[in-house]
Amino acid sequence: EMMLAGTVQGGIFEDLREQSAQAMGTLDFDVYPIGGVVPLMEMYRYADIVRVTLAAKKHLPPDRPVHLFGCGHPMLFAQAALLGCDFFDSASYAKFAEKGRMLLTTGTVHLNELTELPCECPICSKTTPEELMALPKDEKDLALMCHNLYVSAAEMRRVRQAIADGKLFELAALRARSHPALLEALQVMSKNMDQLVESDPFGKSSSIFYTGAETAVRPEISRFHDRILERYPFRTTGTLVIVPDIGERPFSDTASTIIAEVRTRTPEDTILLFFTPMGTVPWELEHVHPAQQCIFSKDVDPQTLGIAKSRLLEILAMISFNKIVWFERESPTNQFSKDVESIYKMIRTTSASETINALESSKSESSEWHLRKLRALLMYQWGSNTGNIANIEGLQVVFSRSTGKIRHVTLKNEIIFTVVPTTGLLTPTFAGGEILLQHNIDDRFIITMEKDAGEFVAKGKSALAKFVIDAKSNLTAGEEVLVVDEEQQLLGTGRALLSGSEMLAFNRGVAVVIRHSPQR
Ligand SMILES: [Zn+2]
Repeated sequence: EMMLAGTVQGGIFEDLREQSAQAMGTLDFDVYPIGGVVPLMEMYRYADIVRVTLAAKKHLPPDRPVHLFGCGHPMLFAQAALLGCDFFDSASYAKFAEKGRMLLTTGTVHLNELTELPCECPICSKTTPEELMALPKDEKDLALMCHNLYVSAAEMRRVRQAIADGKLFELAALRARSHPALLEALQVMSKNMDQLVESDPFGKSSSIFYTGAETAVRPEISRFHDRILERYPFRTTGTLVIVPDIGERPFSDTASTIIAEVRTRTPEDTILLFFTPMGTVPWELEHVHPAQQCIFSKDVDPQTLGIAKSRLLEILAMISFNKIVWFERESPTNQFSKDVESIYKMIRTTSASETINALESSKSESSEWHLRKLRALLMYQWGSNTGNIANIEGLQVVFSRSTGKIRHVTLKNEIIFTVVPTTGLLTPTFAGGEILLQHNIDDRFIITMEKDAGEFVAKGKSALAKFVIDAKSNLTAGEEVLVVDEEQQLLGTGRALLSGSEMLAFNRGVAVVIRHSPQR
């Protein structure tokens, strides 16, 4: 069977690329290559490749692979994959070898300039530059071609593993340090992060390592901040306590005396925010990915800190409060207390006891702090309607005594939510799914299946994309979702492997991995 490729053209003009992708996208091609980029690669115009690829990707069908024509340098693979390119083709391994050039993930080197072979492939491990140079030309070319292919194949494996580990961004950021043109391309990508956020799966568990100024705008971190702005339940309080992050996790261990006091108060009385280089982390959501998993160095660059500051100001503008108590301590974010003080009424404290004394005298007998955490988590995941689940009479929240993390939530002795320890996120059991439906969970978290396939799902089998009849385009892959039949009867709960638009476009593959069903 022959595959047909529908190449997207348009040179360096983003509008032409969009037009071309739109037109080609309506035709039923198997693969969509991005054409005309080899001259850009040869001139190191990687930023232009990012621009035109992103423009094309906006309009290509989500169920078809994208091919980056002529992308043969292993230095580019991670970045191309991050852009959403699925495969490459190139004769570079041979063309470079004929000129004595060796491909590396960090760039290109000339054999005749080497005193050492900078590689662990079978060719380089067994010989020396002098020995290679002494070979007849065709043998030398063959050896270098083999080296180039070994290096390329190994990098492809690294890229695939990084995708599986949720670490592709770090790999691309690392490779971007190999050449200023690649760093510029990464910066262009960072400025267009909205497009990448849409396709970046939610609910990852991997650690996020600070690699430089691009980290703060990574999809996971941008999404965390946006969700707090959109979904944080507590908007009015007496005292807002700001605790700068000293880089240790969990956050609450670094301020345990203050947290113990906050636990006795209602959110209307006191809200506590950790102020980190990635932005603000409300105490209720401290265990949620990526807050808990984000690792910064002690010295953070000014651009990152500038973003953190503007994020703090956005959160402060969102909450109405009487005063701020700023717990001063050595932290990269502590320097912004002056900026905040110039806008808001603020008390600075330097010890836990001073901080507690600066709070207003406690108004409530019992603050039900565990329900407060649950409400914040429910709304963070599924939006405002589901927050009221925390009000259900008889709900029990079971915590880990050592970490303060929610373990599970029960109602009438039945578990309705469990928490994934690595992500800090809730997963509903079947009973929990019913409760989410009763509380009018947003449509985007509901996947409707064909009748026959529905029976399959009800037995705990995966929900296949080809049987999905309705899914919302604003559903992100990785969300915890409910699978229902055409009568809106719950069939199962699980994790979406595809986004809503992918579920509708794909004719094969799994749409939702079912975690709980009536028969499982
Ligand atoms: Zn080698």
